[in-house]
Amino acid sequence: MNKQWIEFVENIKKLYGKDFVALHEPTFNEKEVDYVTDCVKTGWVSSVGSYVTRFEEDLAKFVGVKRAVAVVNGTAALHIALKIVGVEANDEVLMPSLTFIATANAVSYLQAVPHFVDVNEETLGVDPLKLEAYLMEMAELRNGELYNKQTNRRIKALVPMHTFGHPCMMDELVVLCEKYKLVLVEDAAESLGSYYKGQHTGTFGKVSAMSFNGNKIITTGGGGAILTDNETLADYAKHLTTTAKVPHRWEFIHDEIGYNYRMPNINAALGCAQLEKLPEFIKKKQRLVAFYEKQIAKFEGIRLVKEPIGTKSNYWLQTIIMNEQYNRDEVLNFLNEQGVMSRPIWTPIHELEMYRKCPRMNLNITMILKKKIVNIPSHIVI
Ligand SMILES: *Cc1c(COP(=O)(O)O)cnc(C)c1O
Repeated sequence: MNKQWIEFVENIKKLYGKDFVALHEPTFNEKEVDYVTDCVKTGWVSSVGSYVTRFEEDLAKFVGVKRAVAVVNGTAALHIALKIVGVEANDEVLMPSLTFIATANAVSYLQAVPHFVDVNEETLGVDPLKLEAYLMEMAELRNGELYNKQTNRRIKALVPMHTFGHPCMMDELVVLCEKYKLVLVEDAAESLGSYYKGQHTGTFGKVSAMSFNGNKIITTGGGGAILTDNETLADYAKHLTTTAKVPHRWEFIHDEIGYNYRMPNINAALGCAQLEKLPEFIKKKQRLVAFYEKQIAKFEGIRLVKEPIGTKSNYWLQTIIMNEQYNRDEVLNFLNEQGVMSRPIWTPIHELEMYRKCPRMNLNITMILKKKIVNIPSHIVI
């Protein structure tokens, strides 16, 4: 690798003041220590405690949604989000192939089938135009429900995902879902603090899912949330994720097969502290973007992914897209060897063994992007 790349590595290490720079690290201070200590000292560390309610309320308020239900992780949030909107066994669920495995797994937990769609080169999210052309050809409405003409399965929902924090084209996707009678469920796992035309991501769908895993923009250690404006669905999500127990002073009555998906109080305490600092995190992410913009400008044939027009991204993960003159694996090899942790985008899910036989449209943009994308260190500089 040439002098340019060596300088790139040196500048990143200098910025972070470290010899090894991780892809994404959480940022904590005394506030997290105080809240978590409070849990330990009072004994309220587990399934009951006031931080869970507080986290749910603070999160709902921040996002601008009526209700948030905190759960153990983002995958569980997706699972329940899909279940409460009525995804059933043998339904198909439209989703990008270019996403984290959780999106497809959550569909599979319901014995439903992921149906992979292509992404837009600018937003890295579902391409509404390409999807509509595809649906016109292969799907039809029967009694107000959409069916795949080839498989004869119902197509129940669309799950767009806001890749690395950059919002998808929501206006178009909302219209498309109305026209084709699809339930819109957003995978907003990566986009807390991201807005599409001034409206927070995760508020366009009937229900949406978020993640607070250790590598996300804020963390609860492990955690997730189901967001919705629908009170009935929120109550049902809470019920299902807390073992479907019917309230009673002592009897153990459960009225259906529920899940033990609740977020422990100690995790919610961490989340409350993190959420208070989210606006500051986002500001600092923007400074990082400015830094990388300067660095990347020195390279020919490489661009830094910026927020799509009309959106405000949380810039959770910094992303470079390289043209054909670069070999992705050589770049990854060099950066990781030099102590600048870097990663490719996910293996498109339709290429994984267990999802190889799922229905899919032409995925040429997905396949092109997979060869060109590298994520570089993205946590904020304190
Ligand atoms: C992180 C993430 C999830 C959920 O992950 P968990 O680790 O279960 O919290 C889901 N979808 C996407 C796109 C993600 O990035």
